[in-house]
Amino acid sequence: MARLAILSDIHGNLDALKAVLQDIEGQQIDDIYCLGDIIGYGPNPRECVEQCMTFKLNLLGNHDNGALFDPDGFSKGAESAVFWTRQQIEHEQTDAARARWDFIARLPRTHREGNTMFVHGSPRSPLNEYVFPEDIYNQRKIERIFGFIQGICFQGHTHVPGVFTENFRFYMPGEISNRYKVGDQKLMINVGSVGQPRDGDPRSSYVIFDGQEIEFRRVEYDAQQTRQKILAIAELDDFLGDRLLEGR
Ligand code: ZN
Repeated sequence: MARLAILSDIHGNLDALKAVLQDIEGQQIDDIYCLGDIIGYGPNPRECVEQCMTFKLNLLGNHDNGALFDPDGFSKGAESAVFWTRQQIEHEQTDAARARWDFIARLPRTHREGNTMFVHGSPRSPLNEYVFPEDIYNQRKIERIFGFIQGICFQGHTHVPGVFTENFRFYMPGEISNRYKVGDQKLMINVGSVGQPRDGDPRSSYVIFDGQEIEFRRVEYDAQQTRQKILAIAELDDFLGDRLLEGR
């Protein structure tokens, strides 16, 4: 199997994406897969879309979908960010802008390779469903979701990285020395977020998968610089920048 770098939830944060791509360069990676939410929240949506166009696989995230259609179920701050992001993508109505739109509009919601599955949210509802660490106490939900999985499912959306097992466990990367060996058990792997981590660690998160082992990686980037860009854009809520410093 190819050695994959799997990342998600870039959210228009080009500074974070560049740092992750630099880290990937040193990891003998064959292909890069992105599980969606390229845009929304961050100050550089255009550049992030153009970067993702070079990846082997990209999936549609709920924020990508929100920029294409009318956003539904977003908070006020997120909605204003969606409208601003749409303007940025459509910028100047050039061929490049049309190429960006076509690319987003054609993104698939799921991808499978043998027993391995890739989604943005959950295998049951790929675009919108969240699977949070505390959901392990909702056994019915976890059982049902695992019913859609044959082997391993990689996902994002919550911005909280970790491993879910079929027997209702959740492991934070720090509890397992950032590595997990794949066995016979079904697994859900949340790869965390490149552009807006929310597990209390402001560094960008992604994983490497070689078919046998999952490695969680964290990459430092200049979050203060990204925050300053967000503060300078009126349509983007200041909170979207402030939270980057704490990874909340
Ligand atoms: Zn997201």
